Amino acid sequence: MIKCSLGIDIGSISTKGVIIDMDNNIIKSAYIETKGNPIGAVKELLSILKEGFNTEEYRIVHIGTTGSARKLIGTILGAGIVKNEITAHAVGTISKYPDVRTILEIGGQDSKIILIENKIVTDYAMNTLCAAGTGAFLSSQAKRLGVDVKDFGKIALSSTHPTKIAARCTVFAESDLVHKAGAGYKKEDIIAGLCYSVANNYLNNVGKGKKIIPPIIFQGGVSKNVGVQKAFSDILGEEVIAIENGHLMGALGIAILAKDSMEQDFNFNVININFETRGIECEQCPNHCEIICIKKDSRLIDAWGNRCEKGLSKLNI
Ligand code: SF4
Repeated sequence: MIKCSLGIDIGSISTKGVIIDMDNNIIKSAYIETKGNPIGAVKELLSILKEGFNTEEYRIVHIGTTGSARKLIGTILGAGIVKNEITAHAVGTISKYPDVRTILEIGGQDSKIILIENKIVTDYAMNTLCAAGTGAFLSSQAKRLGVDVKDFGKIALSSTHPTKIAARCTVFAESDLVHKAGAGYKKEDIIAGLCYSVANNYLNNVGKGKKIIPPIIFQGGVSKNVGVQKAFSDILGEEVIAIENGHLMGALGIAILAKDSMEQDFNFNVININFETRGIECEQCPNHCEIICIKKDSRLIDAWGNRCEKGLSKLNI
């Protein structure tokens, strides 16, 4: 029986999962949309991972979670380790590219930069406020231009004169795009211009003041866009590598980190268990903390959000 580790990365837009063996080889992986329902998304993800997973040959003995809903899903799955995305992404990427110095990541709703030296994270920054440089922004602009976002990068590469698009924020970028389209600029030039505006916006916000040293790895959903990849390369004057499975690096990293946690038996039956999340307000002092309660088949299994122990005293955990 081959021992395995399961890593799950639950973000606001997408949920990713990988099962690896003890040599970090990916045995199974899956990627789905979260659709505002992290518990439902993880159950769906596990159903996909379960399919064709030979439980006679492999046994999952470690579980780790990362991403914005990591604590919630970690509780539900009984994860041995729950860690932030920065560490998970760095560990995952280093396992594939041991020399990596800079990770540029642009996801659906947020973006981050991670600087690494000798396989150790030395600095990072995240941006969850400005949408102008994210995948969601690119998707909405693609729709506006009547282009499938999957074709965006290819079309951008056919441009010889990328149009300059204001990159400061979504409002500026959108109105500039409408103006340029109305003025008769070629579609491929506008699309290429948007790719440059996304890269510039990222470098001026998330990457502000950061020393970007090669090898540079580009990850996240937007890394599949060859137009944005080229824009980064041109602006930085360095090769920017978009790796295959870049979207899985967080899940891979947390699966690797989970290998150091205590062994346990994971059962896919968790898919059939009923979990419920509820927020209650503690009224024992003026702080009025919102305590998140997780129930498994109507039984409270965990709670957090309380600023002191008193908050849990009436919950009966
Ligand atoms: S959990 Fe503690 S700090 Fe928060 S409202 Fe209750 S008593 Fe106050």
